[in-house]
Amino acid sequence: METSSLAQRFATRFVAGETLDQALDVSRKLNAEGITITLDHLGESVSTLEEAAAARDVYLRTLSALHESGISGNVSLKLTQFGLDFSYDQCRANVEQLVRRAAELKGFVRVDMESSEYAQRTIDLVTDLHERYGAVGIVIQAYLYRAKQDVEKLCSGGIRVRLCKGAYLEPASVAFLQKSEVDRNFVELMQLLLNKGAYPAIATHDEKMIEQTKAYATAQKIPRESFEFQMLYGIRRDLQRRLIAEGYRLRLYVPFGKAWYPYYMRRLAERPANILFILRNLFRR
Ligand SMILES: Cc1cc2nc3c(=O)[nH]c(=O)nc-3n(C[C@H](O)[C@H](O)[C@H](O)COP(=O)(O)OP(=O)(O)OC[C@H]3O[C@@H](n4cnc5c(N)ncnc54)[C@H](O)[C@@H]3O)c2cc1C
Repeated sequence: METSSLAQRFATRFVAGETLDQALDVSRKLNAEGITITLDHLGESVSTLEEAAAARDVYLRTLSALHESGISGNVSLKLTQFGLDFSYDQCRANVEQLVRRAAELKGFVRVDMESSEYAQRTIDLVTDLHERYGAVGIVIQAYLYRAKQDVEKLCSGGIRVRLCKGAYLEPASVAFLQKSEVDRNFVELMQLLLNKGAYPAIATHDEKMIEQTKAYATAQKIPRESFEFQMLYGIRRDLQRRLIAEGYRLRLYVPFGKAWYPYYMRRLAERPANILFILRNLFRR
């Protein structure tokens, strides 16, 4: 799929391009609209430690390029891309290089959250590096039962949290399965983060979640500069523009690179209408 030119054309809806330069071009345009970015070099579950080191080097180049170009943005990464399936220590050493560099450049590294088997190791690694360098934050998924406890600990450690609903297929033993339950937990965690969190990020395209966030911030007199909304590149442009026009902060998650297939499939799975959209375009062609 990743080498098919037809499939690549569809992927461009959610992916900024294959190269860092293409991602930087997209980032500049978004900055010009008042939107900050976080760059994600696509790739997860690498199959050797050499691949993990190569991913780290792409991220080091990305941090430097952001710094040199003056683009307002940071980076997001996945620990399985940095070697977590092979060695916690090696993975930690790879991420540490990046976080140290981010601290020197006054940048920031966000560690995405993957499936629940990685949750504790991700929290441990980020907490450890945050104590040494700052410059690193994490993601919490509202569908996990453990999320509230994790958010409380992260808030007391002053660690920046991005709150999302969660994108992986999890069993009922660890996660809420009903959308209504996930949404209820999302709202509770959003309120906790707005009150106690260090510059939290509310990452959703769900208008109800966004409206509740705005209403809560207004009611509690929480300034718009003390949190940000986040959305994915290519999803709900209308909503993105509206938030900017209303004076809220917005950051887009901008993926780039050749290994787009798993990311793309998660985006399709989130919204079956996306598959209809693709089929309609195929027939039009
Ligand atoms: C910035 C950012 C970072 C993220 N990082 C992580 C992470 O580290 N770990 C993780 O597990 N998940 C992550 N996610 C994904 C997240 O967990 C959800 O899977 C995803 O955001 C869809 O949930 P939603 O909050 O938009 O609400 P939903 O209830 O799923 O959707 C609400 C509405 O948003 C729109 N929408 C949502 N998804 C799509 C789509 N794919 N295509 C078109 N329209 C769509 C539709 O209008 C839909 O009705 C991230 C999401 C964002 C925005």
